[in-house]
Amino acid sequence: MSVETYWTLCLSHPEHGYYIKQDPLGSAGDFTTSPEISQLFGEMIGIWAAEQWNRLGKPDTLHLIECGPGRGTLMADLLRIAKLIPDFAASLYIHLVETSPKLRNKQKQVLEGWNVIWHDNISTIPTAFPNLIVGNEFLDALPIRQFVFDKDGWFERVIGASNDALTFGRGGQVSGTDFPASTKENIQGQIFEYSPAREACFAEMCEKVSAQGGAILMIDYGHTKSALGDTFQAVKSHKFVDVLENAGDADLTSHVDFERLMHKALDYKLAASCLNQSEFLMSCGIEQRARQLKEKAMQDQRRDIDLALQRLTADDQMGTLFKVLEVQK
Ligand code: SAH
Repeated sequence: MSVETYWTLCLSHPEHGYYIKQDPLGSAGDFTTSPEISQLFGEMIGIWAAEQWNRLGKPDTLHLIECGPGRGTLMADLLRIAKLIPDFAASLYIHLVETSPKLRNKQKQVLEGWNVIWHDNISTIPTAFPNLIVGNEFLDALPIRQFVFDKDGWFERVIGASNDALTFGRGGQVSGTDFPASTKENIQGQIFEYSPAREACFAEMCEKVSAQGGAILMIDYGHTKSALGDTFQAVKSHKFVDVLENAGDADLTSHVDFERLMHKALDYKLAASCLNQSEFLMSCGIEQRARQLKEKAMQDQRRDIDLALQRLTADDQMGTLFKVLEVQK
Protein backbone atom coordinates (compact mmCIF):
# COMPACT_ATOMS: atom_id res chain seq x y z
CA MET A 1 0.00 0.00 0.00
CA SER A 2 1.06 3.62 -0.43
CA VAL A 3 2.41 5.61 2.52
CA GLU A 4 -0.82 7.61 2.27
CA THR A 5 -3.02 4.51 2.72
CA TYR A 6 -0.86 3.23 5.58
CA TRP A 7 -0.98 6.61 7.35
CA THR A 8 -4.76 6.93 6.95
CA LEU A 9 -5.31 3.43 8.37
CA CYS A 10 -2.93 4.00 11.28
CA LEU A 11 -4.49 7.30 12.36
CA SER A 12 -8.12 7.07 11.28
CA HIS A 13 -9.20 3.43 11.02
CA PRO A 14 -12.72 3.41 12.60
CA GLU A 15 -11.72 0.81 15.17
CA HIS A 16 -7.92 0.68 15.41
CA GLY A 17 -7.01 4.25 14.38
CA TYR A 18 -4.64 6.12 16.70
CA TYR A 19 -6.85 9.23 16.97
CA ILE A 20 -10.02 7.17 17.27
CA LYS A 21 -8.88 5.03 20.21
CA GLN A 22 -7.36 7.53 22.60
CA ASP A 23 -6.48 11.01 23.76
CA PRO A 24 -2.79 11.14 22.81
CA LEU A 25 -1.95 14.50 24.36
CA GLY A 26 -0.13 15.58 27.51
CA SER A 27 2.58 14.17 29.72
CA ALA A 28 0.74 10.86 30.22
CA GLY A 29 0.16 10.61 26.44
CA ASP A 30 2.53 10.61 23.49
CA PHE A 31 3.21 14.27 22.79
CA THR A 32 2.64 17.75 24.22
CA THR A 33 1.46 20.61 22.04
CA SER A 34 1.81 24.38 22.53
CA PRO A 35 -1.70 24.96 23.95
CA GLU A 36 -1.05 22.19 26.49
CA ILE A 37 2.20 23.89 27.58
CA SER A 38 0.61 27.17 28.60
CA GLN A 39 -2.56 29.27 28.40
CA LEU A 40 -0.33 31.97 26.89
CA PHE A 41 -0.45 30.21 23.52
CA GLY A 42 -4.24 30.10 23.04
CA GLU A 43 -4.52 33.59 24.46
CA MET A 44 -2.19 34.94 21.77
CA ILE A 45 -4.38 33.26 19.11
CA GLY A 46 -7.27 35.08 20.84
CA ILE A 47 -5.45 38.41 20.40
CA TRP A 48 -4.88 37.55 16.76
CA ALA A 49 -8.56 36.63 16.26
CA ALA A 50 -9.76 39.86 17.91
CA GLU A 51 -7.42 41.82 15.66
CA GLN A 52 -8.91 40.08 12.59
CA TRP A 53 -12.43 40.93 13.77
CA ASN A 54 -11.32 44.57 14.02
CA ARG A 55 -9.77 44.46 10.58
CA LEU A 56 -12.97 43.01 9.13
CA GLY A 57 -14.91 46.01 10.45
CA LYS A 58 -16.31 44.37 13.61
CA PRO A 59 -18.93 42.21 11.89
CA ASP A 60 -21.99 41.04 13.88
CA THR A 61 -21.44 37.46 12.80
CA LEU A 62 -18.16 35.62 12.44
CA HIS A 63 -17.53 31.90 12.07
CA LEU A 64 -14.59 30.85 14.23
CA ILE A 65 -13.36 27.46 13.10
CA GLU A 66 -10.70 25.33 14.72
CA CYS A 67 -9.36 22.30 12.87
CA GLY A 68 -8.09 19.43 15.02
CA PRO A 69 -8.81 21.10 18.39
CA GLY A 70 -7.38 18.30 20.56
CA ARG A 71 -8.59 18.79 24.12
CA GLY A 72 -10.22 22.15 23.34
CA THR A 73 -7.56 24.00 25.32
CA LEU A 74 -6.57 26.48 22.62
CA MET A 75 -10.21 27.37 21.99
CA ALA A 76 -10.95 27.79 25.71
CA ASP A 77 -7.94 30.11 26.14
CA LEU A 78 -8.85 32.02 22.97
CA LEU A 79 -12.41 32.53 24.23
CA ARG A 80 -11.14 33.84 27.59
CA ILE A 81 -9.57 36.70 25.62
CA ALA A 82 -12.65 37.09 23.41
CA LYS A 83 -14.84 37.65 26.45
CA LEU A 84 -12.84 40.80 27.26
CA ILE A 85 -14.31 42.30 24.07
CA PRO A 86 -18.04 41.58 24.46
CA ASP A 87 -19.08 42.53 20.91
CA PHE A 88 -16.41 40.27 19.51
CA ALA A 89 -17.47 37.36 21.75
CA ALA A 90 -21.12 37.92 20.82
CA SER A 91 -20.32 37.74 17.10
CA LEU A 92 -18.80 34.27 17.30
CA TYR A 93 -20.21 30.99 16.01
CA ILE A 94 -17.82 28.24 16.98
CA HIS A 95 -17.12 25.29 14.70
CA LEU A 96 -14.76 22.44 15.52
CA VAL A 97 -13.49 20.06 12.85
CA GLU A 98 -12.67 16.87 14.72
CA THR A 99 -12.75 13.17 13.86
CA SER A 100 -11.93 11.68 17.27
CA PRO A 101 -14.99 10.82 19.42
CA LYS A 102 -12.83 10.76 22.58
CA LEU A 103 -11.44 14.23 21.93
CA ARG A 104 -14.88 15.56 20.97
CA ASN A 105 -16.06 14.58 24.45
CA LYS A 106 -13.19 16.47 26.08
CA GLN A 107 -13.91 19.52 23.91
CA LYS A 108 -17.57 19.40 24.96
CA GLN A 109 -16.58 19.52 28.64
CA VAL A 110 -14.00 22.28 28.29
CA LEU A 111 -16.25 24.51 26.16
CA GLU A 112 -19.41 24.11 28.19
CA GLY A 113 -21.61 27.18 27.96
CA TRP A 114 -20.52 28.01 24.41
CA ASN A 115 -22.57 27.15 21.38
CA VAL A 116 -20.37 24.76 19.43
CA ILE A 117 -21.02 22.84 16.22
CA TRP A 118 -18.84 19.83 15.35
CA HIS A 119 -17.87 18.77 11.84
CA ASP A 120 -16.18 15.68 10.41
CA ASN A 121 -14.39 17.79 7.84
CA ILE A 122 -14.14 21.37 6.72
CA SER A 123 -16.53 21.05 3.79
CA THR A 124 -19.65 21.46 5.96
CA ILE A 125 -18.58 24.78 7.50
CA PRO A 126 -21.11 27.41 6.40
CA THR A 127 -19.79 30.15 4.13
CA ALA A 128 -22.49 32.77 4.61
CA PHE A 129 -20.27 34.93 6.87
CA PRO A 130 -16.55 35.64 7.22
CA ASN A 131 -14.46 32.74 8.51
CA LEU A 132 -11.53 32.76 10.89
CA ILE A 133 -9.91 29.35 10.57
CA VAL A 134 -7.21 28.29 13.04
CA GLY A 135 -5.32 25.04 13.59
CA ASN A 136 -2.33 23.97 15.65
CA GLU A 137 -0.63 20.72 14.65
CA PHE A 138 -3.59 19.87 12.45
CA LEU A 139 -2.09 19.86 8.95
CA ASP A 140 0.74 17.56 10.03
CA ALA A 141 -1.83 14.90 10.96
CA LEU A 142 -3.08 14.66 7.36
CA PRO A 143 -1.44 11.92 5.28
CA ILE A 144 1.35 12.33 2.74
CA ARG A 145 2.49 10.37 -0.28
CA GLN A 146 6.19 9.71 -0.69
CA PHE A 147 8.09 9.20 -3.93
CA VAL A 148 11.56 7.89 -4.40
CA PHE A 149 13.82 8.82 -7.32
CA ASP A 150 15.33 5.88 -9.16
CA LYS A 151 17.54 6.27 -12.26
CA ASP A 152 15.29 8.34 -14.46
CA GLY A 153 12.03 8.90 -12.68
CA TRP A 154 9.91 9.06 -9.55
CA PHE A 155 8.29 5.97 -8.04
CA GLU A 156 5.63 5.71 -5.33
CA ARG A 157 7.15 4.65 -2.01
CA VAL A 158 5.06 1.77 -0.72
CA ILE A 159 4.75 -0.36 2.39
CA GLY A 160 4.34 -4.12 2.37
CA ALA A 161 5.00 -7.19 4.47
CA SER A 162 8.13 -9.27 4.33
CA ASN A 163 8.97 -12.06 6.81
CA ASP A 164 6.09 -10.96 9.03
CA ALA A 165 7.39 -7.40 9.34
CA LEU A 166 6.39 -4.25 7.50
CA THR A 167 8.95 -2.87 5.11
CA PHE A 168 9.32 -0.08 2.54
CA GLY A 169 9.43 -0.84 -1.14
CA ARG A 170 9.22 0.77 -4.55
CA GLY A 171 5.84 0.92 -6.26
CA GLY A 172 4.92 2.03 -9.75
CA GLN A 173 6.45 4.93 -11.63
CA VAL A 174 4.48 8.13 -11.29
CA SER A 175 4.31 11.11 -13.56
CA GLY A 176 2.09 14.12 -13.62
CA THR A 177 2.46 15.06 -9.95
CA ASP A 178 4.25 18.35 -9.24
CA PHE A 179 7.73 16.90 -8.92
CA PRO A 180 10.58 19.31 -8.31
CA ALA A 181 12.16 20.54 -11.53
CA SER A 182 14.88 18.16 -12.66
CA THR A 183 18.28 19.10 -11.42
CA LYS A 184 21.80 18.21 -12.38
CA GLU A 185 22.60 17.04 -8.85
CA ASN A 186 22.52 13.36 -8.18
CA ILE A 187 19.16 12.71 -6.56
CA GLN A 188 19.24 8.95 -6.86
CA GLY A 189 17.38 7.47 -3.87
CA GLN A 190 16.07 10.83 -2.66
CA ILE A 191 12.55 11.20 -1.37
CA PHE A 192 9.94 13.73 -2.36
CA GLU A 193 6.86 14.22 -0.19
CA TYR A 194 3.54 15.55 -1.24
CA SER A 195 0.27 15.63 0.66
CA PRO A 196 -2.85 15.71 -1.52
CA ALA A 197 -5.04 15.63 1.63
CA ARG A 198 -3.30 18.63 3.20
CA GLU A 199 -3.42 20.63 0.03
CA ALA A 200 -7.08 19.81 -0.66
CA CYS A 201 -8.05 20.75 2.89
CA PHE A 202 -6.05 23.98 2.76
CA ALA A 203 -7.53 24.81 -0.66
CA GLU A 204 -10.98 24.48 0.84
CA MET A 205 -10.03 26.89 3.62
CA CYS A 206 -8.75 29.37 1.01
CA GLU A 207 -11.92 29.00 -1.03
CA LYS A 208 -14.07 29.91 1.97
CA VAL A 209 -11.97 32.92 2.92
CA SER A 210 -11.79 34.04 -0.68
CA ALA A 211 -15.59 33.87 -1.00
CA GLN A 212 -16.62 35.47 2.31
CA GLY A 213 -13.57 37.21 3.72
CA GLY A 214 -11.75 36.30 6.90
CA ALA A 215 -8.36 34.78 7.64
CA ILE A 216 -6.50 31.53 8.22
CA LEU A 217 -3.85 30.79 10.85
CA MET A 218 -2.11 27.39 10.63
CA ILE A 219 0.68 26.55 13.06
CA ASP A 220 2.88 23.54 12.57
CA TYR A 221 6.44 22.37 12.22
CA GLY A 222 7.74 22.52 8.74
CA HIS A 223 9.79 24.39 6.20
CA THR A 224 9.23 27.64 4.33
CA LYS A 225 11.25 26.43 1.32
CA SER A 226 10.22 23.23 -0.43
CA ALA A 227 12.96 20.62 -0.31
CA LEU A 228 13.60 16.95 -0.93
CA GLY A 229 13.92 14.67 2.09
CA ASP A 230 12.18 12.12 4.26
CA THR A 231 10.31 13.77 7.17
CA PHE A 232 7.84 10.93 7.83
CA GLN A 233 8.03 10.26 11.58
CA ALA A 234 6.28 8.45 14.42
CA VAL A 235 6.09 9.54 18.05
CA LYS A 236 5.13 7.45 21.05
CA SER A 237 5.56 8.29 24.74
CA HIS A 238 7.42 11.50 23.81
CA LYS A 239 10.05 9.63 21.77
CA PHE A 240 10.60 9.07 18.07
CA VAL A 241 9.89 5.45 17.11
CA ASP A 242 10.04 3.45 13.87
CA VAL A 243 7.19 4.53 11.56
CA LEU A 244 6.43 0.92 10.64
CA GLU A 245 6.23 -0.34 14.20
CA ASN A 246 3.34 0.37 16.58
CA ALA A 247 0.88 0.82 13.68
CA GLY A 248 -2.18 2.52 15.19
CA ASP A 249 -0.39 3.03 18.51
CA ALA A 250 1.97 5.88 17.58
CA ASP A 251 1.28 9.31 16.13
CA LEU A 252 2.40 9.76 12.52
CA THR A 253 3.44 13.16 11.22
CA SER A 254 5.61 14.88 8.66
CA HIS A 255 6.91 18.38 8.17
CA VAL A 256 4.50 20.74 6.48
CA ASP A 257 5.71 22.27 3.22
CA PHE A 258 4.59 25.86 3.86
CA GLU A 259 5.98 27.13 0.57
CA ARG A 260 3.48 25.03 -1.37
CA LEU A 261 0.62 26.23 0.84
CA MET A 262 1.64 29.86 0.36
CA HIS A 263 1.56 29.34 -3.41
CA LYS A 264 -1.88 27.78 -3.09
CA ALA A 265 -3.14 30.84 -1.15
CA LEU A 266 -1.82 33.07 -3.93
CA ASP A 267 -3.80 30.99 -6.46
CA TYR A 268 -6.88 32.20 -4.58
CA LYS A 269 -5.59 35.79 -4.67
CA LEU A 270 -5.12 35.79 -0.91
CA ALA A 271 -2.20 37.36 0.95
CA ALA A 272 -0.01 34.81 2.72
CA SER A 273 2.93 35.15 5.06
CA CYS A 274 4.87 32.75 7.22
CA LEU A 275 6.58 33.65 10.51
CA ASN A 276 8.49 31.64 13.07
CA GLN A 277 6.35 30.79 16.08
CA SER A 278 8.50 33.03 18.30
CA GLU A 279 8.12 36.05 15.98
CA PHE A 280 4.37 35.54 15.84
CA LEU A 281 3.90 35.13 19.59
CA MET A 282 6.14 38.11 20.38
CA SER A 283 4.19 40.27 17.93
CA CYS A 284 0.96 39.33 19.75
CA GLY A 285 2.46 40.39 23.09
CA ILE A 286 3.29 37.08 24.75
CA GLU A 287 6.04 38.64 26.90
CA GLN A 288 3.74 41.37 28.20
CA ARG A 289 1.03 38.81 29.00
CA ALA A 290 3.55 36.56 30.78
CA ARG A 291 4.69 39.52 32.88
CA GLN A 292 1.08 40.34 33.75
CA LEU A 293 0.35 36.75 34.81
CA LYS A 294 3.51 36.66 36.92
CA GLU A 295 2.45 39.72 38.90
CA LYS A 296 -0.42 37.72 40.43
CA ALA A 297 1.44 34.42 40.69
CA MET A 298 3.22 32.53 43.48
CA GLN A 299 6.95 31.93 43.16
CA ASP A 300 6.55 28.38 41.74
CA GLN A 301 4.02 29.57 39.22
CA ARG A 302 6.29 32.44 38.19
CA ARG A 303 9.00 29.92 37.37
CA ASP A 304 6.51 27.80 35.40
CA ILE A 305 5.41 30.82 33.36
CA ASP A 306 9.05 31.62 32.52
CA LEU A 307 9.70 28.02 31.52
CA ALA A 308 6.59 27.90 29.32
CA LEU A 309 7.51 31.16 27.62
CA GLN A 310 10.96 29.77 26.99
CA ARG A 311 9.61 26.51 25.58
CA LEU A 312 7.21 28.24 23.20
CA THR A 313 9.63 30.87 21.90
CA ALA A 314 13.28 29.81 22.29
CA ASP A 315 15.15 29.01 19.07
CA ASP A 316 16.37 25.68 20.40
CA GLN A 317 12.84 24.70 21.48
CA MET A 318 9.61 25.46 19.58
CA GLY A 319 10.36 29.04 18.54
CA THR A 320 11.95 28.40 15.14
CA LEU A 321 10.97 24.89 14.07
CA PHE A 322 7.31 25.82 14.37
CA LYS A 323 5.94 28.16 11.74
CA VAL A 324 2.80 30.27 11.63
CA LEU A 325 1.13 30.61 8.26
CA GLU A 326 -1.25 33.55 8.09
CA VAL A 327 -3.59 34.06 5.17
CA GLN A 328 -5.90 37.02 4.66
CA LYS A 329 -8.22 38.18 1.97
N1 SAH B 1 -4.64 21.28 18.11
C1 SAH B 1 -4.50 20.42 19.25
C2 SAH B 1 -4.37 18.94 18.90
C3 SAH B 1 -3.31 18.55 17.90
S1 SAH B 1 -3.31 16.80 17.59
C4 SAH B 1 -3.33 20.89 20.09
O1 SAH B 1 -2.53 21.68 19.60
O2 SAH B 1 -3.23 20.45 21.24
C5 SAH B 1 -4.21 16.65 16.07
C6 SAH B 1 -5.69 16.91 16.17
O3 SAH B 1 -6.27 16.74 14.88
C7 SAH B 1 -6.48 15.99 17.09
O4 SAH B 1 -7.54 16.71 17.66
C8 SAH B 1 -7.00 14.94 16.11
O5 SAH B 1 -8.08 14.20 16.58
C9 SAH B 1 -7.34 15.81 14.93
N2 SAH B 1 -7.38 15.14 13.63
C10 SAH B 1 -6.49 14.23 13.15
N3 SAH B 1 -6.81 13.88 11.89
C11 SAH B 1 -7.91 14.60 11.58
C12 SAH B 1 -8.73 14.70 10.41
N4 SAH B 1 -8.46 14.00 9.33
N5 SAH B 1 -9.79 15.54 10.43
C13 SAH B 1 -10.07 16.28 11.55
N6 SAH B 1 -9.32 16.23 12.67
C14 SAH B 1 -8.27 15.41 12.69
